[in-house]
Amino acid sequence: MLSGLVVVLSGPSGVGKTTISRCLMRDPLFRFSISATTRPPRENEKDGVDYHFLSLEEFRAKISADGFVEYVEVYEGVLYGTLRAPLDEAVASGEVMLLDIDVDGSEKIRAMNYPLLRIFISPPDYDELAKRLKGRGTDDEKSIEKRMKRWKKEMECGTSFDLKVVNDDLGACIESVHRAIAARYLRGPTED
Ligand code: ADP
Ligand code: 5GP
Repeated sequence: MLSGLVVVLSGPSGVGKTTISRCLMRDPLFRFSISATTRPPRENEKDGVDYHFLSLEEFRAKISADGFVEYVEVYEGVLYGTLRAPLDEAVASGEVMLLDIDVDGSEKIRAMNYPLLRIFISPPDYDELAKRLKGRGTDDEKSIEKRMKRWKKEMECGTSFDLKVVNDDLGACIESVHRAIAARYLRGPTED
């Protein structure tokens, strides 16, 4: 039976995970895991494309129905979760499923039996991260503050990942990530 690979991309908000994921999606073997969240969409985001935007009630109903492989309250009052059905389907059909999730969600996935590669994306430094978060222009002051507060925690957990890549030069970072995924995929599902 064909078996795919789960690739977890984590790292502080603003480091470039969405940008990197979008580029990786050019590889036809790759699928992106569209998470569910209770936060409101940004101006440029579409429901069912960037996230499944759910009310708290809808999110809770999915939890009760065992619809998530993991979910985390990443920021106070804001829930994010990885949907179980698309993930299982992708892995069963031999695809590479890319998850852009926080470090706690990543730990939960690690405890499961999926063929897995966990990659931590690191910023060159704190100032550059702040610059990117502000420069993105999609979050208000409060959201930026919430995200900057989590940077220390995210960076501390980064040491437990299979691979750490600094996103300084974007092209070089994408190439390193892509190469690592391809190598892990070729080794097959049982190797870790
Ligand atoms: P995340 O998904 O990790 O929160 P994004 O992918 O939204 O981060 O990136 C945040 C901002 O940083 C975006 O405006 C993006 O264009 C920019 N960015 C991403 N990678 C780089 C890079 N290597 N150098 C400079 N800016 C970058
Ligand atoms: P944002 O609101 O900026 O899109 O995402 C905030 C944080 O939530 C990021 O660190 C992102 O990786 C994380 N995140 C997005 N989806 C999920 C998910 O399904 N599960 C978990 N645990 N974290 C997620």
